[in-house]
Amino acid sequence: MSKAKAYSATSATSPMAATTIQRREPTEQDVEIEILFCGICHSDLHSVRNEWSEFMPTVYPIVPGHEIVGLVTKVGSSVTKFKTGDLAAVGCLVDSDGTCAECKAGLEQYCPNLTFTFNSPDKHSRGVTYGGYSESIVVDQRFVLRVPTNLSLPGTAPLLCAGITTYSPMRRWNVSKGQKVGVVGLGGLGHMAVKFAHALDTHVVVFTTSPKKKEDALRLGADEVVVSSNTSDMQKHADSFDFIIDAVSADHDVNVYLSLLRRDGNLTIVGAPSKPLGVSAFSLIARRRSFSGSSIGGIPETQEMLDFCGKHNITADVEVIPIQKVNEAYDRLLKSDVKYRFSIDMSSLKG
Ligand code: NAP
Ligand code: ZN
Repeated sequence: MSKAKAYSATSATSPMAATTIQRREPTEQDVEIEILFCGICHSDLHSVRNEWSEFMPTVYPIVPGHEIVGLVTKVGSSVTKFKTGDLAAVGCLVDSDGTCAECKAGLEQYCPNLTFTFNSPDKHSRGVTYGGYSESIVVDQRFVLRVPTNLSLPGTAPLLCAGITTYSPMRRWNVSKGQKVGVVGLGGLGHMAVKFAHALDTHVVVFTTSPKKKEDALRLGADEVVVSSNTSDMQKHADSFDFIIDAVSADHDVNVYLSLLRRDGNLTIVGAPSKPLGVSAFSLIARRRSFSGSSIGGIPETQEMLDFCGKHNITADVEVIPIQKVNEAYDRLLKSDVKYRFSIDMSSLKG
């Protein structure tokens, strides 16, 4: 065991604060990583505040963080994928059973026995897993990803959750050149969806509640921006979208967006508000529309996404912060005030 500096919350109402955690010595399959940058996902905030208590109750203390890039510092004797000094990344998953149909299909995120990077029962200890708001992490090599060397590291960290969560459903629904794609909510996930949809040569329309994000949306690759409170602008897009991705973190009316899909169009929800969303049957029946969900992505597809980003030079637009500003960053997330992902410089933990 070794000690690692980290940031944790001890209850749903307490702020994140400095702490020390234990990391295991690498077993023969493990890779030890010194964490350089960790993105802040809205899921970190939902979990810290126990907003998903019904589905995934939080065990305290919680050390969040699942958008991790760093340097390999040690490898176990059977590790072939990595050597000391390599760049490496870890996303939302650190283990799965490896034997079920989901794992065999490379869809480890749907394995019934998966281990999330934080707040998940840890088979190596009696406690739960601790995430990336820390100096280091030890992970089975099967769940460690290779990082393209041409990408900036602070902007690469968010690819491990915001990136794969938006890339995966676009692949699943065969989003392709010439299609009309909607992105609802221009936050961490939403801005990555815009970049991917643009790289796939689609016509991208952003729906936002924040008029001040209009120019940024166009710069990020949107062809049109609609402020969702403007009903007549919304109406102009009725029955026209092939695919819409909804990345909103709070309660909202999805029927408004379902009505914008053309026949056989799909709306995939990736945002995870804690309250149920009311879907009208008529929103779906009318044009044989479908409404589906999607969880992050499997390990092979996450590597594919990172390689796609390397090829197309895609990273997240980040505001780099020291860990000491994490509570302020959470407050700003709740005000939709982030351009467009916070990336924590983990060297700040050493200070
Ligand atoms: P984020 O950066 O905070 O972005 C959320 C965006 O939603 C905001 O920027 C805002 O965009 C919009 N929004 C916020 N409050 C709203 C409201 N009351 N009504 C309408 N729109 C609102 O969050 P994120 O990190 O991208 O995460 C988004 C959601 O996805 C979270 O619920 C997170 O837990 C979930 N998530 C799911 C997965 C998965 O596997 N499915 C993975 C990661 C995250 P505008 O200002 O443009 O309106
Ligand atoms: Zn996330």
